[in-house]
Amino acid sequence: VSILVCSIIHTQLIQLKKDERNLYKLAYTDTLTGLPNRNAELREIERCISGEAHIPIFTLILFDYDNFKMFNEFLGHHIGDIFLIESIHHLRGVMGKEAVLGRVGDDRFLLLLPGIKTEDEILHYIDGLKREIAAPFFYKGHDYHMTACFGVVRYPKDSATAGDLMRQVEIALFRAKSHGKNCVVFFDERMQQTLERQMTLENKLIAAIDKKELYLEYQPQYHVPDRTLRGFEVLVRWESPDMGHIAPLDFIPLAEANGTIVTIGKWILHEACTQFARLKSMYEKPPVLAINISVVQFSDPEFLPIVRQTLSDTGIDPCYLEFEITESVFIKSQERTKRILDELKKLGIRISLDDFGTGYSSLSYLRSLPLDIVKIDKSFIDPIGTIPEDKNIVRSIIDMAHKLDLRVVAEGIERLEQFDYLVRNDCDFIQGNYLGKPVTISAL
Ligand code: C2E
Ligand code: CA
Ligand code: CA
Repeated sequence: VSILVCSIIHTQLIQLKKDERNLYKLAYTDTLTGLPNRNAELREIERCISGEAHIPIFTLILFDYDNFKMFNEFLGHHIGDIFLIESIHHLRGVMGKEAVLGRVGDDRFLLLLPGIKTEDEILHYIDGLKREIAAPFFYKGHDYHMTACFGVVRYPKDSATAGDLMRQVEIALFRAKSHGKNCVVFFDERMQQTLERQMTLENKLIAAIDKKELYLEYQPQYHVPDRTLRGFEVLVRWESPDMGHIAPLDFIPLAEANGTIVTIGKWILHEACTQFARLKSMYEKPPVLAINISVVQFSDPEFLPIVRQTLSDTGIDPCYLEFEITESVFIKSQERTKRILDELKKLGIRISLDDFGTGYSSLSYLRSLPLDIVKIDKSFIDPIGTIPEDKNIVRSIIDMAHKLDLRVVAEGIERLEQFDYLVRNDCDFIQGNYLGKPVTISAL
């Protein structure tokens, strides 16, 4: 009996060891690629820092494929998986034997690169990775070319703990992504400060509406060529008692990222429509009110009900309202966008396409959408007068827009010669500091 018991215990022990090994493998391996996962990478970094791995100096490179989500949705997740496996295979050929590659997120990978590397050496190394990442991926008769962004952090230069290094390399990658595709960013101390400021802003922003720290300014738009008033663009302002004036470009993107823009946008719409009564009484002909609508606000399921509620609460006639949207609303879902735009039009609200020329859309693509106005971005207005007139495409944008029965607003006019050019070239309306800066309703 005792021999039998011993042998059972022995078999169980072997099984246990096997289970333990499997569990260990599960806990430290990514199932799709078989690469070390985040936990395994963290453990490896710690082994380096503690001296156990005998790697006193190393670089961490975190990278993430550009537009991978879109690629996945377009071709299917299964194809996305195949792409990743193939891509890793290519990378193995150039990353060097001593480097440790791990998968730390969906399409996010971390490379631990031992040894001293100067910034130039690292950039050269990353160029090699970029080339492999860009290798064509062939699927159903098409070649797809991928790019990626890279964040870089160095030990011991940047930080002394694995947790901090991971956080810093993520900050660097975040920066790289915000610059666009195919970018590389090395971590530096200032990035951390910027991030901390953003977090403070984010926390304070939530309370800013209730504390009445937000207010509106109105920038006039004029008819061309007689300079009679057409209306105003509504621009939000934030005056914080402890941080001073904060520019919309500093807080709107944050509000979009954390969703606060939905509440802020609702407040802006309500406040502007309420103030319209005062504006209207100042002019013989009631002015148009152009209100910026963020893509996040536009995507909110409550957007249309909020618009309807605001119209009925404030009693504003919708024929004086114009919503400024950007191309980003079309990228999300074209069908839904079109439906909402049609609903807004039915209510009597005009639609204006903001920042035209900075995105990807051609005017002919826009033909299928119920737009009324395009706003030519300031970056096209800036060179007027400094480059030869025939090199400027503003004229062709205006012509094309008119052929599509759209009116044109040129924004960011700062000089007389820009004004003259727009008069000569039949622009419909103009807006800019040359004719009037944004001011509060009291100043108006
Ligand atoms: P945008 O919609 O393109 O607004 C035009 C920006 O150009 C405004 O900056 C305006 O003050 C500025 N501007 C107008 N004329 C001139 C000029 O002649 N020269 C120069 N240098 N600038 C001029 P602002 O107010 O700082 O707003 C920046 C951006 O923030 C806006 O760009 C818009 O994307 C966003 N934003 C502002 N207010 C709102 C809002 O109420 N709601 C939403 N969703 N976004 C807003
Ligand atoms: Ca605008
Ligand atoms: Ca604009």
